[in-house]
Amino acid sequence: MTDFLGLKLAPTILRAVEAEGYTTPTPIQLQSIPALLEGHDLLGVAQTGTGKTAAFSLPILHRLQEKTVHQDGRRTPRALVLAPTRELAGQIGESLRTYGQHLGLRHAVVFGGTSIRNQIRILSRGVDILVATPGRLLDLMNQRQVRLDRVEIFVLDEADRMLDMGFIPDVKKISAAIPKKRQTVLFSATMPKSVQSLADGLLNDPVHVEVAPTSTTAERVEQHVLFVHKDKKRALLAELMNDRSIERVLIFTRTKHGADRVARHLDDHGVRSDAIHGNKAQNARERALNGFRNGKIRALVATDIAARGIDVDGVTHVINFELPNDPESYVHRIGRTARAGATGIALSFCDREERGYLRDIEKTIRQTVTVNEDHSYHAADIANDPGHGKRGPSKNGNFRKNNNGSGQRRRNPKRGSRPSVKAA
Ligand code: AMP
Repeated sequence: MTDFLGLKLAPTILRAVEAEGYTTPTPIQLQSIPALLEGHDLLGVAQTGTGKTAAFSLPILHRLQEKTVHQDGRRTPRALVLAPTRELAGQIGESLRTYGQHLGLRHAVVFGGTSIRNQIRILSRGVDILVATPGRLLDLMNQRQVRLDRVEIFVLDEADRMLDMGFIPDVKKISAAIPKKRQTVLFSATMPKSVQSLADGLLNDPVHVEVAPTSTTAERVEQHVLFVHKDKKRALLAELMNDRSIERVLIFTRTKHGADRVARHLDDHGVRSDAIHGNKAQNARERALNGFRNGKIRALVATDIAARGIDVDGVTHVINFELPNDPESYVHRIGRTARAGATGIALSFCDREERGYLRDIEKTIRQTVTVNEDHSYHAADIANDPGHGKRGPSKNGNFRKNNNGSGQRRRNPKRGSRPSVKAA
């Protein structure tokens, strides 16, 4: 059973899935969907980019469309999905809309930083599936604007991030307001002890599913490093953007100000771009994201936090304007260009201070990143810095994908095994 037909989803859902161009379920979908359709609780270790949203959304839609219950005329949520960020909540809402387009189910997305009045109005009209960030949902509960006493399916997405963001007390309050007799699903990119103990408290004899996305992601992405002095990075970026094969690029900076500066610099060079980070108002963030999605903006500059959960298909390149100091962020970042089986290209700028970061990254991904010195700002002194290990220049001067999509990856010859990196 490797196609969607074998998963026994309702034909109306399959039609929507086919229209999206999905032909084969991803591994996390193959593992999760049957268990969820059978009503089991589920503990999933999977990152964004693995298809996890559909893995829980399709069974929710299937189960809710099986029986319509609007007892005494009230239409209160029968499924609740909690997500840590507004972006992720918005994207889950989008997925539900897409996959559920032929069903008569209603969903709503509620998050903070935007008018609560509108959300109250939408809720009062009745919803079947509610997607929410924890803080705003608690506000709505405290104002008695939402009832959770008919929730049958409860999903907690990116539980590790919820924990990082201090949402766990809120999550516990919310879960206490949901009937005990329910199906509970928890997804997390990583499974530290704290998430495990949260899962122990919430889940009842769950099915465990796990995919190791970081290794596959890192494998699929063609990775280059460009050694450059810090003060030449902007000029290098402008030069790279002359390459029209860089159609849709996500550029990462370490700081919010850095993101703004890079976006302004690109605009000055005639590259339509925008920045997305936590200092921006919600509508500005949405505008930037939509522009990027519909192709009006060629370059989106983001910080790690803001980029979490950004789900945009067709990102041809990721550029690390600055390398992150933790390798997992690097893997997250480059994964943005290899969504659901696609291949992509990641270009990392590395200045002298970032040499150590590069070394850590290579250790984690267990492969050496190809050096590309075919640009005007190659810093041979940084490249030749002793202690960095041997590496040769890339023969392929441009940044187009190789036809076979396999890239010019070089594995560390000392390690014969497949690189396998699990999320930390
Ligand atoms: P997610 O991990 O949920 O963020 O999904 C990552 C991306 O994969 C999204 O852009 C989905 O539209 C896409 N996707 C999900 N499932 C499939 C599938 N079975 N085939 C192709 N693309 C998919």
